[in-house]
Amino acid sequence: MPVDPICGMKVEETSKYRSKFQGKDFYFCCMECKETFDRNPLKYSR
Ligand SMILES: [Zn+2]
Repeated sequence: MPVDPICGMKVEETSKYRSKFQGKDFYFCCMECKETFDRNPLKYSR
């Protein structure tokens, strides 16, 4: 199960909050976490 890189919560792969960065998919629990990631993906993508 993917983990929201912002808050550490487990997220369903069917989550509608997702971003693709450097060929990897990232999933988020909410819009806020997605926006935080999108603002600075490098910081959160590892
Ligand atoms: Zn989150």
